[in-house]
Amino acid sequence: MQDKIKKIRIQSASEINLAENSKQLENFRIKYLGRRGEVTLLLKDLAKLSPKQRPQIGKLINDLKKEIDSSIKTRNEEIKLKSAEDGEGDWIDLTMPGVKLPEGHLHPTTAAIQEITEIFSKIGYTRERYPEVETDWYAFEGLNMPKDHPARDEWETFFFSPKIVLTPHTSSGQLREMEKGKLPIRMINISKCYRRQSDVSHTPMFYQFEGLHIDKNISIANLKGTIDYFIKEFFSGKREFRLRPFHFRFTEPSFEIDITCDICQGKGVLENGQKCRLCKEGWLELGGAGMVHPNVLKAGKIDPKKYSGFAFGWGVERVLMMKPGMNIDDIRMIYKNDLRFLEQF
Ligand SMILES: [Zn+2]
Repeated sequence: MQDKIKKIRIQSASEINLAENSKQLENFRIKYLGRRGEVTLLLKDLAKLSPKQRPQIGKLINDLKKEIDSSIKTRNEEIKLKSAEDGEGDWIDLTMPGVKLPEGHLHPTTAAIQEITEIFSKIGYTRERYPEVETDWYAFEGLNMPKDHPARDEWETFFFSPKIVLTPHTSSGQLREMEKGKLPIRMINISKCYRRQSDVSHTPMFYQFEGLHIDKNISIANLKGTIDYFIKEFFSGKREFRLRPFHFRFTEPSFEIDITCDICQGKGVLENGQKCRLCKEGWLELGGAGMVHPNVLKAGKIDPKKYSGFAFGWGVERVLMMKPGMNIDDIRMIYKNDLRFLEQF
């Protein structure tokens, strides 16, 4: 009996080690451990032994059984590993489309900033960025708004101290650009601005883009031409605009720019005869513009008798909302970081 056990141990070990696939291994498992397998039959023969011999031989047979079972498993792993290395594992159809990984994209504001930068770079404007924290001089005083002037109220500024403010508008970049001392100037300053306001059309933090063009003989005609060019490019030629006289301290004359409403096509009335809820009269306010005030040129150390210029400052999110088909009825959505909203762009 012990010789038989020894013989099966040697034979099974060599057979299992030489097996080349899992089918062969299964055949060996049946040959040794199956219902009529050689090891199983040995166990049945135990009954023929004397009670004294039984425990000792029984243990040997059980050990052999475990040994065969374990070497079949080990060999099976080796075969699997080898076929994976050889590329013979699960069949792969290389013509099937792959699993698509989630892909991010630019935030709509970032995309709008890039587009605005590109539009103005085509007509010679250079993108600039100026500080988010500014001194009172650049934000107000140098822009013809002396201390205690009521015009300051409109900016609802966050003051850190009487002299330091969170930049309330990109116009502060005008003086910084002039201070460089290089003329002519064609600057587009796109930066973050902060004001104490929050409703459907305002957020406490927002982006503005500020155009500044200073050269000899610059007139309102140049301003109008530049605005016309931007509006045609950014709104795909589908909008009209108008200059509406207004008052700002840092420009003279000053205007607000209105563009025709996308919802009612500038009619103020919808096709069903109802008044347009968005614009009420066909025009939407885009932002401010005007000829740079001589006092501001002086503050920037430019001689207003020799040079003139125009400036305009508009909200990036505001123009983004006015793009045809955007359909954003609350500006705060842009910064809520809600993927259901952002993934639509
Ligand atoms: Zn309208």
